[in-house]
Amino acid sequence: MKTLSEKQALRKLRDLKNNFRELVKRDYEFRAKDCLTCETPGACCTDAHFVNVHITRLEAALIDEELGKLAPAHLESVKERIRRAVGEFGLSAEGDTFAQTFACPLFEKGAGCLVHAVKPVPCIAHACYDRREDLPPDELTTAAEAEIEKLDARTYKKHPRWLPLPVYLTIVESD
Ligand code: SF4
Ligand code: SF4
Repeated sequence: MKTLSEKQALRKLRDLKNNFRELVKRDYEFRAKDCLTCETPGACCTDAHFVNVHITRLEAALIDEELGKLAPAHLESVKERIRRAVGEFGLSAEGDTFAQTFACPLFEKGAGCLVHAVKPVPCIAHACYDRREDLPPDELTTAAEAEIEKLDARTYKKHPRWLPLPVYLTIVESD
């Protein structure tokens, strides 16, 4: 398998997310509720009993790159919120990490998702649909995540791990 520099991989991952977003938008999202009319905007991101978004190391690096576009003081407050989320919700890289849930520290009232352009695949696929059959099929998400795993493996040369988003962001920050 041809290896990639992190820079090359980040570019490819950004493209992958753009393509996935376009596909979801074109084929599914028009049947979902319009988030602009939502009575509880962000409820989907801040439900601490529901959100368990996991990312790989490469995704963490891409999110970190995107957060780097924020003004320094804003960035510092977001990083602090990420660190706090790890403690508050008892998040770790140990055990059944998919059982760990949290209010996502990347959601900000008024602004929405701070990393909208590069958000994780399940976040791109998520929307409120009236009919279950209108949802993007799980296989679509699984296929996109398999592509992400391949990119990650080509970059870091080991089998990728999926960890709760705040956990991986703190690991990348301390690297
Ligand atoms: S996905 Fe659903 S809960 Fe979240 S903002 Fe959109 S309409 Fe509201
Ligand atoms: S990454 Fe963005 S879309 Fe996903 S849960 Fe966090 S705030 Fe919501």
